[in-house]
Formats: sequence, C-alpha cells, structure tokens
Amino acid sequence: MISKKWSFMVMMVAVFALTGCASTPTTSTGASGSPASSPAASSAPSTAKPAGGASVLDEIKSRGKLVVGVKYDTKLFGLKNPTGGEVEGFDVDMAKALAKEILGDEKKIELKEVTSKTRIPMLDNKEIDMIVATMTITDERKKQVEFSDVYFKAGQSLLVKKGSPIKSVADVKKGTKVLAVKGATSVANIKAKAPEATVLEFDNYQDAFSALKAGQGDTLTTDNAILYGMMAQDPNFVVVGEPFTDEPYGIAMKKGETALQAAVNDSLKKLQSSGEYDKIYKKWIGEAPSK
Ligand code: GLU
Repeated sequence: MISKKWSFMVMMVAVFALTGCASTPTTSTGASGSPASSPAASSAPSTAKPAGGASVLDEIKSRGKLVVGVKYDTKLFGLKNPTGGEVEGFDVDMAKALAKEILGDEKKIELKEVTSKTRIPMLDNKEIDMIVATMTITDERKKQVEFSDVYFKAGQSLLVKKGSPIKSVADVKKGTKVLAVKGATSVANIKAKAPEATVLEFDNYQDAFSALKAGQGDTLTTDNAILYGMMAQDPNFVVVGEPFTDEPYGIAMKKGETALQAAVNDSLKKLQSSGEYDKIYKKWIGEAPSK
C-alpha cells in the first residue's frame, strides 16, 4: 500500500521524468545553469568523436556488450540479492532496457558495482561505458561527464528511527550526528542546510544504514527514493520531513561521448513512448512502503 505522499511523488515523477520539465538541480555550491533536462541540447553535435580513437558507442557495438556501472547497495535501484547473487532494481532494469535498445538484446550487458565515490573514476578509467546509479545531474558533475536527459526525479530527505525527535531538516542542529555516503550530493547539501551538525561519511549505503541501526548516528540523509528502500528493509525506520533538494537522475557517460549520449537519449524516448519505462517504474517504485 503506497501512502498518499509517496504516491503523489510517484505521480510527479512519472509526469516530469523525461518530459523536459525538471527543475535545475540544487547543490551545496548553489550553482545555477540550464535546466537539468537539456544537456544534450547544449552539447557538441552527436557525430563528434573523441580525439584519437573510436567512440565508446562504436566500441559497445563491436564488442556486442554494454558495460554498466550500477549500485549493489541500494534497494529499489540496484541491490545485490544476498542469496541468488542477482543485482536488481529500477536502475538495473533501465540499464537492461538500454542494452535492448542499443544492441537488440537485454542480455548483452555486463553489470559492475559502483558506489557514489567510485562511479566517476570507473567511467574515466573506461571500466564501464555508463553509470546508471541514482546519480544526480549537477552543474559540477557536468564538467566531468556527459549526462542523459532526466530519467527519475528524487529529493533529499532524512531517515530516522521511529519516535526520533528529528521531524525535519530544521531539527538537524549542532550536536546532531548525520550519516551520509562519500561522493553523494547529500553530504554538501546537508552541510549547507545544517552547517553545525556533524556529518559522518560511509563508503556505501548499506554501511551507513547499519551504522544508523547500531545507533552511531541520529539520522541518515540521502535521496528519499533510496530512504524508502531502507524503510522497506527495516520498518523501525521512517522517512521524515519534506524533501529539501531536487535530485534529478541522469545516466552518465564519459566526457565527449556525445554519440553515445544521443543514442541513450533516443533510447529513453523510445522506452517512454513504448510504455516500457512505465512498466519498470511501476515494478520498482510501486513497491515503496506506506509511511
Ligand atoms: N543522487 C545523489 C547523488 O547523485 C545521492 C544518491 C547517490 O549517492 O547516488 O549523489
């Protein structure tokens, strides 16, 4: 059963994702710029190739496999099933759908684990062709990678133990211990909102959640969509307050790979018009627990 608030967010996301209506992302740097949904329009022509070699799109086609960085620690988006070993979630299904669009077969894919901290270095090292991993489009990151159009819209929120005195970000003050993950926008965002709080950074979301459960912090902060996944893992924890940032997710590709960027944006549009995007959305986000 989905709560009214969550279903409202789902509806908003379903309406705004991929339609070019997303707002400019909020980051702690306060950077402003073009709407998050228009990176393709502002990039070089899609025929451009990086100097000194085949484009990543050419490489993907000749190797016949798409290598995608996904989360292994994030329920609902990319979580490694501890029993079967399968990696599952919205981002994983999106990645498979992209493999089907680009290579004609969703099985022509290899998934590699990324964390918020390792995802851009792994892309730069060419260990992966793209990142599909709850990654917010920000102006800062646009300097390092090419982003697709927005494919999901989240907002930063707080997870607390039921009964916590923290009811919203206004209650995060001096002395409050906030748990977050290295390399996530959440760290700078919470420091901007609550400069006096203590922020403890972990390598991945399952470690941060374990620390919250062990009482090492008062609250865990990241995107509400990720926090709802944690609520589903342990109902003693609850998401509180309104989201206090915009976190529009984009698929990231290596800087200069504009042919791949165009192919991904094209695929996203096809997935939306075929109804495949909605199917994937309902499968994962419809699972969100009631508040
Ligand atoms: N969407 C935010 C980010 O890109 C937080 C989630 C994450 O750590 O991936 O940093």
